Amino acid sequence: MVHNFNAGPSILPKTVFEQASQAVLDYNNTGLSILEIGHRTSTFQSIMDEARALVKELMQLSDNHEVLFLHGGASTQFMQVPMNLLDDKKTSAYADTGVWGQKAVKEAKLFGNVEVVCTGKESNYTVIPKDFAIPNDAAYFHITTNNTIYGSQWQKIPKVSIPLVGDMSSDIFSRVIDFNSFDLIYAGAQKNMGPAGVNLVVVNKNILGKIKRPIPTIMDYRNHIKDGSMLNTPPVFAVYVCMLTLRWLKELGGVAAIEKKNNEKAALLYNEIDRNPLFTGTVAKEDRSKMNVCFVMQDPALEEKFLAFVKELQIIGIKGHRLVGGFRASLYNALPISSVQVLVDAMKSFAQQHA
Ligand SMILES: *Cc1c(COP(=O)(O)O)cnc(C)c1O
Repeated sequence: MVHNFNAGPSILPKTVFEQASQAVLDYNNTGLSILEIGHRTSTFQSIMDEARALVKELMQLSDNHEVLFLHGGASTQFMQVPMNLLDDKKTSAYADTGVWGQKAVKEAKLFGNVEVVCTGKESNYTVIPKDFAIPNDAAYFHITTNNTIYGSQWQKIPKVSIPLVGDMSSDIFSRVIDFNSFDLIYAGAQKNMGPAGVNLVVVNKNILGKIKRPIPTIMDYRNHIKDGSMLNTPPVFAVYVCMLTLRWLKELGGVAAIEKKNNEKAALLYNEIDRNPLFTGTVAKEDRSKMNVCFVMQDPALEEKFLAFVKELQIIGIKGHRLVGGFRASLYNALPISSVQVLVDAMKSFAQQHA
C-alpha cells in the first residue's frame, strides 16, 4: 500500500475513486458516462445542487453565503477577489504569511492599493504574525488560513470589522471554524476537497456590487450566483468528484469528526518530530499546521538517505518544497492515521540505525 503524503494534488478517499471510476463508465445505470452528459441536464443539475447544498451544510453557512464552483484554481481568485471588491484608489489589507499570500498581494495591486498589515518574513515564515492593526477603511482583509509551503496555520481567525477573505485551499473542511465570519472563502479543490480543475468560492452576497469598475461577465461573482454556478460549462467531472468527497465527509460525521482525526494524525507526527533527536520542526509550535507538517533533519547530510529509506516503505510525497527544504508531510482529510503511523515508525527505526 502506498502512503500518499503529497501536498497537492493529493490523496482522496478510496471509495470516491471507485465511485468516480464507475461513473466514467456508466453513470447511475444511465448507459452514459458522466463525461458525456450535458451540464444543463437534470442529471448534472442534481449533482451541482447536491454539491452546493453539502458545502452549505458542512460549513453551516448563513443564507447570505452563496456557494460557487468556478474554473481557474485558487490562483484565479488572487485576481477575481480584488476585481470584485477593490475599487481603484481604495485600499485592501493583506497578511503576508508565505508564498501564496504574496501572490495574492501581487494581483491585488493591479486593481487598487494594498497595505500588507503584517508579515512573517523576518522569521522566514515560521510564525503567524500576532499583533497588527488593520485600517478601518480597507475594503477587506485577506488571509491565507493555512500556508501549504511553510507549514503554518492561523489557529485563531482574526476578528475584524471589515469583510474578511480567506484562501483556504489547503485546510478547507479540515477543522471547525466559524465559516460565517468570512465574507469570502476560496479554495482550489485539489488539496482537500477533490481533483484539480475546480475552485470552491463561498461569498456573502451582501459585499458584492459596491465598486465602480466594470467587471467582465465571467469574472463577476454576481453573474455566477444568478446562474446557480452554471454561467458557462462548469468542470463537470471535478464538481462530481468534489460532491462525492463531501458526501464521504458528511457520512463520516462532518467537519467536527474529521477535525478530531486530523488532530490525532498531527499530534502523532509532531510528537515524533519533537521526541526524535534526528528531526526538528520548522514552525513555531503554536502556529503549526495540522495539514502540512514541515520538518528538517539536524544533520542535513542524512536527508537524502531518509528519503531513500522511506521510499522502500512506499511512503511518497514527503520531500519539502524547494523554498523550505527538508520534509513536508501533508495530512489531508483522506489520509488514514495508519499511514502516519508508518511514517512515524520509519522515523523511529531510522533513528535507531543512525544513533
Ligand atoms: C495550492 C495553493 C494555491 C494555488 O492553487 P491553484 O489551484 O494551483 O491555483 C493557492 N493558495 C494556497 C494556500 C494553496 O495551497
